[in-house]
Amino acid sequence: MKFADLHLHTQFSDGTFTPEELVLHAQKQGLACIALTDHDTVEGCVRAAAACARVQMEFVTGTELTAEHADTEVHVLGYCVDTHNQVLLDRIGQFQSVRQRRIHEMVAALNRLGVPLKVEAVFALANCKSPGRPHVARAMVKEKLIGSLDEAFERFLKRGRPAWVPKTKMSALESVELIHQAGGLAVMAHPGLNRTDEIIPDLVAAGLDGIECFHTKHSTVMSERYLEIAEKYGLLVTGGSDCHGYSKNKPLIGTVRLPYAYVEKLRAAQQRLAGARPGQP
Ligand code: AMP
Ligand code: ZN
Ligand code: FE
Ligand code: FE
Repeated sequence: MKFADLHLHTQFSDGTFTPEELVLHAQKQGLACIALTDHDTVEGCVRAAAACARVQMEFVTGTELTAEHADTEVHVLGYCVDTHNQVLLDRIGQFQSVRQRRIHEMVAALNRLGVPLKVEAVFALANCKSPGRPHVARAMVKEKLIGSLDEAFERFLKRGRPAWVPKTKMSALESVELIHQAGGLAVMAHPGLNRTDEIIPDLVAAGLDGIECFHTKHSTVMSERYLEIAEKYGLLVTGGSDCHGYSKNKPLIGTVRLPYAYVEKLRAAQQRLAGARPGQP
């Protein structure tokens, strides 16, 4: 049997692996196919694709867009997107700027709270265009301003905590359209994590192509529930570990193993989309 892991992060957002390290770990796990889904960027895809090609592993381009619908945050995965699509690059570039501004705001809030973190320390550690709260937390630990990442989130960075800053997000409906115009397929990420089932019909009406049924934080019962929802709405089924690097001394990559038949269905759907939209790359 061949397996895939279609939800992975690298240093191009808040993961700790380089694309090359990620592919090495995928190889170790015996995966036949991976997708890179860094937050609000496709920058790592070129290197990940090259590293995969060197070891004859299949690669699916991807991104994980931070979006919202009806006041709920929803992550929308874009698979098989053209990573050179200018409309996509321009729009995610705006959200990368939003992320960078938010780092400044969170550090300013920490400073007001008496935590002497320098914004340069966060940007030096993040060293990417799509920084996030994990980089702030890691910089705090590195500068010995807090004991652990968990403590940084619990005391300061979690929603509602004093250094939390809300993030401007694109609408989920726009994210679906943005992914489609870049030749890709839009998939709702980890629905069981956010408990946002009530927005699924709206997303389907907007053209959602798939739903992530298998995820590290989904129980078997949840996965079964989302498989039923996929069936009901005729959605593609995807899955992945959402690995961000080492977590408790072990990377999550490969802990969620998506049967390869689902990748074939994804590819077939992408071909149909390309056929239905002549003129798109
Ligand atoms: P951001 O995109 O900046 O809002 O950061 C979101 C990321 O922070 C998620 O992808 C998680 O990896 C991480 N995260 C969110 N909440 C926590 C938490 N309580 N503890 C550790 N990491 C978290
Ligand atoms: Zn993340
Ligand atoms: Fe996510
Ligand atoms: Fe993710």
